Amino acid sequence: MSALIYFVGAGPGAVDLITVRGMRLLEKADVGVWAGSLVNPAVLNYCRKDAGIFDSSRLTLEETTRILAEASGNGKLAVRLHTGDPCIFGAIREQMEELDRLGIEYEIVPGVSSFCAAASVLKTEYTVPEISQSIIISRMEGRTPVPDKEKIRSLAEHGSSMVLFLSSSMISSLTKELLAGDTYTEKTPAAVVYKATWTDQRIIRGTLSDIAEKTRAAGIAKTALVLVGDFLGSSYNKSRLYDRNFSTDFRSAEKSGASDSQRAPVFSEIYIMSFTAAGNALSDKLRERAELFSCGHSDVHELKANVNKDVSAEEFCRKAFQSAHDGSKVLLVSVGALGIAVRLVSLYAHSKLVDPAVVCIDDAAKFSISVLSGHIGLANDASKIISSITGALNIVTTSTDVNKRWAVDSWAEHNGVRIFNPDKIKTVSAKILAGKPVLIFTELNHDSQLFDGIPFSGNDGDSGIHFTDDESEADIVISYKRKSADSKSLVLYPKAVCLGVGCRKNIEPESLYSFVTEILEKNGIEPLSVKTVASIDLKKDERAVIELSERYGAVFRTFTAAELNALDGDFSSSEFVRNTTGTDCVCERAAVLGSGDGNLIIKKEVSDGMTAAAALSFSC
Ligand code: SAH
Repeated sequence: MSALIYFVGAGPGAVDLITVRGMRLLEKADVGVWAGSLVNPAVLNYCRKDAGIFDSSRLTLEETTRILAEASGNGKLAVRLHTGDPCIFGAIREQMEELDRLGIEYEIVPGVSSFCAAASVLKTEYTVPEISQSIIISRMEGRTPVPDKEKIRSLAEHGSSMVLFLSSSMISSLTKELLAGDTYTEKTPAAVVYKATWTDQRIIRGTLSDIAEKTRAAGIAKTALVLVGDFLGSSYNKSRLYDRNFSTDFRSAEKSGASDSQRAPVFSEIYIMSFTAAGNALSDKLRERAELFSCGHSDVHELKANVNKDVSAEEFCRKAFQSAHDGSKVLLVSVGALGIAVRLVSLYAHSKLVDPAVVCIDDAAKFSISVLSGHIGLANDASKIISSITGALNIVTTSTDVNKRWAVDSWAEHNGVRIFNPDKIKTVSAKILAGKPVLIFTELNHDSQLFDGIPFSGNDGDSGIHFTDDESEADIVISYKRKSADSKSLVLYPKAVCLGVGCRKNIEPESLYSFVTEILEKNGIEPLSVKTVASIDLKKDERAVIELSERYGAVFRTFTAAELNALDGDFSSSEFVRNTTGTDCVCERAAVLGSGDGNLIIKKEVSDGMTAAAALSFSC
């Protein structure tokens, strides 16, 4: 009589992160062999009192195999318990081969790997559009050799999201290797998660320049994962095509708890018109790949003019323009001669600030031409995508692009930066094209990732873009502080401020909005710069706070009292607030936490059952 042997993934640590199947097997097991150095001993509480339990960290492969084989031979149920999921650095292959040799059957029950647990406790996603779509799981070479082509520096060349197991004790050499790949930089975000989901879990965040030091200082050298990659950073927002209009889709997505990184569709509506059979086929092809123009759902409208005679091309275009002028992010694709597109579009074109992106592709898919709103409307980006779908040559004619110069409006659009006085764009672009110096003033940290996409003059100095400390001489002012309407500079408002708010139940939305708006005004902060509204989770359904975030086009985030309390710092403190919410100060702590540990710029203000504070995003 023999019974099966089960290899079971115990999960990362927390006892309720084992699978139901794994737990039931443990409850029934006669014999358990567990990885004592890694699995949380509390998981063994699922086992019967009379089960025979063996710690594999003290045993050889032969010994564990003998224990499992004997149990199975005696008709007993044996569980071999591994940390996380057994398929990752579980050393189960050699054990399975031994059992195969003895002709003993076994099954594997998967578990939650620690790399998934680490992402969950960091509240992050490894696969972020436009940042990385791959996860590399590896380790530094230790006693176990690593094949040459998998050396960390080679893997690091990809710049993907990386998770390093079994390497925290070698973190200094690890970071050197990661940098040697020449794709990550010293600024690349990194995190170390020690004992993810255990009660003594710890998280260290930093960049490749300081993570080793911080980890050593924290005394962490085992049971930890090292995570590296831009997925940990805030650059996602800036590299994403950005919905300046905060469409309804966006707001409802945020309300339903979507994270900061889940942005609105880039184009919430796509209009495609075609005039010939070949053109109709291209229209189908673009519709099938519509997801490439958005990061979620977008409405696709098609007009096949030679088939559908009910709607005129003029009417179709009018609708596309109307929708864009009403504030939606719209792409209009005309499949056919450029002349047709130009004649139609000229009926409705108004200004590059509000017109839809218009792209024309001929019906043989030879050329895809960005026709209208190349930068702010994102037609240049759309044309590039269309050319990659169809194989057409991408034709872009905007001067900054053809001269390979920086386009301030395109940069602003891609980084979610609001343009306060767009009439100044042409002054800046003209200077850039003429190779004249362009001076940027900002109160933000010059190292902020926000500025990564600007080609500042280095030693070769050909672009002529520099920072200046003198606001009065600046061509561009990038600020979260409100500027005067007659500013001579091009004024840009980045999303940089996190508002922390607290309020009593059922407060009127209008009261909270006026209170907060007044505070911003008093402190000279531009409401367009508000990126996040943060509060305690008790307020997650509070209408006034939700409406506040909607009116500012901001992301709404909430934190638990424990998360707010865990923050170190010098915060205002109120016994009354502590008694009602469990933390001594909601608004300041929420502002700082929501900003990613940035600096408080407005301390707690109170009025009539409402509190507010503001912090500047850490990355700014
Ligand atoms: N099979 C396991 C990995 C076993 S290798 C899994 O899927 O997670 C052991 C290594 O895993 C440790 O050195 C550490 O790098 C990592 N590890 C395991 N549990 C962890 C946890 N809770 N938090 C952080 N790292 C963990």
